[in-house]
Amino acid sequence: MLKKTALGLFFAFVLATLWQRQREFSPRDLPRAPADPSPSPKPQTLASPADFGEADAAAVRPIFAAFATGDFVGALNLADHAKDQVPQRPNVLAWLTQQMPVLLTSAGWARLKVGDCDQARVYFDRSHALKATQEATKGLALCHYKQKNMRVARDHFLAYLAVDPGDSEMQLLYTDVLESESRFPEAVGILRQLVQAAAPAEQPALQQRLDSMEGRAQESTLEQVEASQHFRLTYRAIEQADLTSLVLSTLEDAMVEFNEQFGLPPPLLPIEVVLYPRQAFGSVTNGPSWAEGLFDGRLRIPVSSSRLDAEASAELQTVLRHELVHALLALMSDSRSLPPWFDEGLAQRLSCNQRACAVFDFGPQPGDFLPESSFMTSYLSLSAVNAGPAYHQSLFLILTIEAKHGAASLRQILSHLAVGSSIDSDALLAPVNGRFAGLYASAKGFWQARSLPTTSL
Ligand SMILES: [Zn+2]
Repeated sequence: MLKKTALGLFFAFVLATLWQRQREFSPRDLPRAPADPSPSPKPQTLASPADFGEADAAAVRPIFAAFATGDFVGALNLADHAKDQVPQRPNVLAWLTQQMPVLLTSAGWARLKVGDCDQARVYFDRSHALKATQEATKGLALCHYKQKNMRVARDHFLAYLAVDPGDSEMQLLYTDVLESESRFPEAVGILRQLVQAAAPAEQPALQQRLDSMEGRAQESTLEQVEASQHFRLTYRAIEQADLTSLVLSTLEDAMVEFNEQFGLPPPLLPIEVVLYPRQAFGSVTNGPSWAEGLFDGRLRIPVSSSRLDAEASAELQTVLRHELVHALLALMSDSRSLPPWFDEGLAQRLSCNQRACAVFDFGPQPGDFLPESSFMTSYLSLSAVNAGPAYHQSLFLILTIEAKHGAASLRQILSHLAVGSSIDSDALLAPVNGRFAGLYASAKGFWQARSLPTTSL
């Protein structure tokens, strides 16, 4: 009898420990969905000038040279400058006028590729005004899409796809535009065609997108939309109506706080947020059932009930703040993949700011600090055993930055994050004169000592 009780207690202890580990070290959210395709323009060339004398040829030679080396913005600037200089050379002027759409779209794509869509759009618009080309229309569609201006993006996508319906990369992105407008049946129809036409290697990923879109289409029949200054919230009209003010005020307050404390800029256009019933979340995201949130261009949040107790309400607020950090970092960095330690660490650090979870909890079995390489590639590639600790220790790395470099260090780092900035780990730490190897060594030392020097928290 005694033996049996002892055995029962032992199992209860094991289960409790496992449960606690699971609670403490599980990632809060899914790793980001794989990056969308990044379409390119067809290669463009400048036409060879005919009937050019030596003086004419000399006038355009630098433009050719810059274009040939891929310096498209430089070539455009030279051409703009030359136009003012050569009114007495009709051949050159005629050639420049003719080449301008190619020069402008090439410069536009060069800026688009480094995430500078503000400048890219200026070039595409100029080009479009001279001559409507597929390259400029495609560039405009992509830039408005990246900048989340879906209504304008839609018109350019439609114009482009009317001429080039076989461009599957653009069709795939267009389904995302359609989702923003709740036009799910059209999005599902396009995805079905893409699955059918895809090469076998591409079919599983597309099928997954189709399955998710079908799940969302089903959900959408019950949905309603409410907007605040920076957010557009989609929710189930009947079951989740009580939550909308909590969700929107949490996000707006967090936006103000992140802006004031860390300098994160508010979005220019509303960020989309979708609430799902927890039981439907798996089918709309194709993710594991434990995930508490997802950011894949939209904040997708599962909720279990419309009336949350205090604990569940605090938990939802933390999840919203966490996913909002991912969304803002994506906007700042042109949706490039940041090192996971940085992305996940900051999301945890900011979501817990001045809250109960702000004191770092090593947990009952902290284990070793993971190898440096574990923090560099997607946590999806790590084993299930290591993904949780990598996530947990990412926060520890961020706290170590503050411990080493002071309370203002995160703000300094974030002020240098921009669409064209380098985003490897060393470049991110450069504003505080840090390098990742040094940060890692310090964090590992603190971890082994189970202590973190006083931080700003
Ligand atoms: Zn996250």
